[in-house]
Amino acid sequence: MPGVATLLVTLADAAYIDIFSPGHTVAKRVTILGSTGSIGTSTLEVLRSLAPDYQVAGLGAKRRWQELAAQCQEFHPPAVAVADPANAIQIAPFLDSRSELFAGPAGLVELARRSDTDYVVAAIVGAAGLESTVAAVQAGKKVGLANKEALVVAGSIIVPLAARTGAVLLPIDSEHSAVFQSMSAGRRSEVRKIYLTASGGPFRAWSAEQMAGATLQDALRHPTWNMGPKITIDSATMMNKALEIIEARWLFDLPPDSIEVVIHPESIIHSMVEFVDGSVIAQLGSPDMKTPIQYALTCPDRADGCARKLDFSTIRRLNFESPDFDRFPALELGYEVARIGGTAGAVLNAANEEAVEAFRQERIPFGRVVELTREVLDRHNVQAAPDLDALLAADAWARREVAECLKQ
Ligand code: NAD
Ligand code: MG
Repeated sequence: MPGVATLLVTLADAAYIDIFSPGHTVAKRVTILGSTGSIGTSTLEVLRSLAPDYQVAGLGAKRRWQELAAQCQEFHPPAVAVADPANAIQIAPFLDSRSELFAGPAGLVELARRSDTDYVVAAIVGAAGLESTVAAVQAGKKVGLANKEALVVAGSIIVPLAARTGAVLLPIDSEHSAVFQSMSAGRRSEVRKIYLTASGGPFRAWSAEQMAGATLQDALRHPTWNMGPKITIDSATMMNKALEIIEARWLFDLPPDSIEVVIHPESIIHSMVEFVDGSVIAQLGSPDMKTPIQYALTCPDRADGCARKLDFSTIRRLNFESPDFDRFPALELGYEVARIGGTAGAVLNAANEEAVEAFRQERIPFGRVVELTREVLDRHNVQAAPDLDALLAADAWARREVAECLKQ
């Protein structure tokens, strides 16, 4: 089991030594894993506005091959991967004659470690992105990390691996980008705590009874962010914030007790860092992922941003509330798993992914999603220092447990 200090080597030291040193060079050739998704397409928008300094070195996705084909025709990537081999034949005619095409999950891994790539944007949703994210870290790339589930499952593997290979993990998740940016206002040893802000999702003001029977349409109606369906449902249960507590624990090497969740319905303050002297430094911006994506690509430099700018003449007030742990029991799960470590993250994530999928298929009501995840986690015998195989086994076990519960 890696020591908690390892993260300092990968991210915080990178932030304070490598990235902010004059010798640091920014990445130019970018591969996007999950290019057809919400983060993937926003990343391409950012790359359009950063062209010609940044180029697309590779694109990979599973769903929506027609969109991937259109992306290939616009960006001419030297390498493309499709997770579903059946789509390889469909997409081949849209590639440049010299482009390489990889098929199947192993193709995403190939794409992630190619030598003509400086920077990998990990934007596949769920544990499906774990293997390719690990491959990018193994190959010592700069990794813009949107795929938070990879860290929730395997932060204990990824963080020390990055320290060994020289890979740098750069947060894309807006809260973690905000913390990352705010941390540069002081030294790492001067950080007292961080505040992760949360919009509260579509059910912030709903009673537990109302929430229990919420429909899929209700859950997909996020008040401030436009995102892929899985993270949108995670935001409705607030499991997204639970995953982000664990993500922050790994990225910033913080004990869970120094990570506090604050409800901030306007989603303008993206998170905050409190230093030992009581100063709180925040990062603000419109709720648009293009801003944190761009910073992950260009940092420590900044370039003209293509997201909408804040207009303070239209912002009347910023509101804050304490989270309600009774109505949103997922939050407690986040703290619990961050404290326990071992295989708990893999089980939490896999059970949640399966429960969310069951809700999307209308096999369980909204109120069962977190309950089911909790039940599976409670039945799990946590293994303290798992290797990657043990984490994958825990993931598979949790998925089988959910399937068993669904049969009953
Ligand atoms: P999405 O569903 O919109 O897109 C997912 C992408 O992953 C698609 O390109 C899809 O083809 C690909 N994909 C799915 N399963 C795959 C598989 N088995 N193999 C290969 N590719 C696969 O999801 P999203 O909202 O863009 O989220 C992506 C990641 O970014 C998630 O981990 C999410 O938590 C994180 N994130 C998203 C946002 C956001 O605003 N959307 C914000 C913060 C963090
Ligand atoms: Mg987030």
